[in-house]
Amino acid sequence: MCDKNRLPEAYLARMELLLGSEYGAFFKSYGERRQYGLRRNPLKITEEAFVKVMPFPLQKISWAREGYYYDAVSRPGSHVLHEAGAYYIQEPSAMAAVEALAPGPGERILDLCAAPGGKTTQIAGRMQGEGLLVANEVIGERAQILSRNVERMGIANCVVCSEKPERLAALFPAFFDRVLVDAPCSGEGMFRKEEAVRREWSEEAVRLCAKRQAAILREAAKLVRPGGVLVYSTCTFSPEENEGTISAFLREHETYTIEEIPCGALFSPGRADWIKEETPGIERCGRLWPHLLQGEGHFVARLRRRGEAKTEEAGSGEREAGAEKRVERRQGREKSFRKERHGTIEEAELCKLVNAFMTEELGIGEGWRQKHAGSLLRFKEQIYLMPDEMPPLAGIRILRPGLHLMTEKKSRFEPAHALALSLGPDDIGKRRAVSYAEAVAWLRGESLPCQEEKGWTALFYEGFCLGFGKASGGQMKNHYPKGLRKSLENP
Ligand code: SAM
Repeated sequence: MCDKNRLPEAYLARMELLLGSEYGAFFKSYGERRQYGLRRNPLKITEEAFVKVMPFPLQKISWAREGYYYDAVSRPGSHVLHEAGAYYIQEPSAMAAVEALAPGPGERILDLCAAPGGKTTQIAGRMQGEGLLVANEVIGERAQILSRNVERMGIANCVVCSEKPERLAALFPAFFDRVLVDAPCSGEGMFRKEEAVRREWSEEAVRLCAKRQAAILREAAKLVRPGGVLVYSTCTFSPEENEGTISAFLREHETYTIEEIPCGALFSPGRADWIKEETPGIERCGRLWPHLLQGEGHFVARLRRRGEAKTEEAGSGEREAGAEKRVERRQGREKSFRKERHGTIEEAELCKLVNAFMTEELGIGEGWRQKHAGSLLRFKEQIYLMPDEMPPLAGIRILRPGLHLMTEKKSRFEPAHALALSLGPDDIGKRRAVSYAEAVAWLRGESLPCQEEKGWTALFYEGFCLGFGKASGGQMKNHYPKGLRKSLENP
């Protein structure tokens, strides 16, 4: 619910003009409760197991495959399962953009404006660890939050970077199968949720946002391969930032056409009558209105670059062939990590050591390796598994070049927290199950009494890995990263 008297007057006047007889119902929605949503992490748990393990009442969101409503009294952000990456808290309407993108395994996908990571983590779930996901956030501090969320959700095939769109466009022309532009906007659709957004709104801000969106989309257009998909989304209502931006983009880019949105029938069509220029197909855009569905405001457009298509739209035959190739690649994968493509002899030696550590000291088996493709990358003392298909990283600000595997100490390795969060219970031999109370103590940074032999052990709560501990002298020493430690309540 929000205080209707605090809504900007100029904003309300604009909305009344645009909505006409519908305005009454729209305005009334500001007196109603906002909606709360979370999204299951399909990288870690099936739908069936999720509904059994979740301790809160949940209700499915009709337009998002993994999405659920929860009620305002549940506090899923303060539960151990949240820290373990079982789900991501996300406003329900915000889940529509990735449904429109329809990502799949094995693709190359770019999330251009990605922090804090709601849509990146949703895309990763659909990719099932196969293919390359690049998550970019231009603001450094926000990119760090994005990187932490990628880690928490156990995503292995994601490179996190912090670059201006023009820099990426120059480095990766026509490289991606799908690009998502979840653009910075005036946030009108979030007024019920965030008071600060309401306070910052002005007509001038709407104009500035529209200008910035046009500039970002122009660069995004260069990053999509012929036949690829570009999805544009905002959480605002203004025609200048939505139909206006798309209409101007289409006039400038004849190689792009506008497409129907998968599940778009659930949303309201784009409004041709709200913009001056005639734009064929603009009604194929989708708007999510708080007075017409259970969610906040959002806008989505799906564009396609003309050219040869090679993903699902090329016909299910080709997509299946792609899936077969991926299986073949997996089966043919060496039983150990490969060295970095331009690697040296020392790197070949490093591969052997990394393999030995993972197998002998952690008990990580073939199952996990079959799921995670890539080459080893050493950055100072940090060792990563970089996703296949990632072109050379030189010249881009990278926060996470792939899955962080371990840190090299003088004569030994320490397994990384990111590696722990990518593990399922069947992936690792050296593991131990903990109770909720033990998990809470662990996340606070406490050590636990133990009977395990000396060495590394992965701790699991309800089948979700919480991190690594190191047994010694009857104690499981806590290696939960200091910056992530927190005090959660016992239920
Ligand atoms: N996709 C995110 C999610 O689902 O969690 C939310 C993205 S938010 C709507 C837009 C993002 O664009 C912000 O993180 C903002 O820092 C970033 N941004 C701001 N100016 C930008 C620019 N000129 N180019 C690219 N990104 C920009």
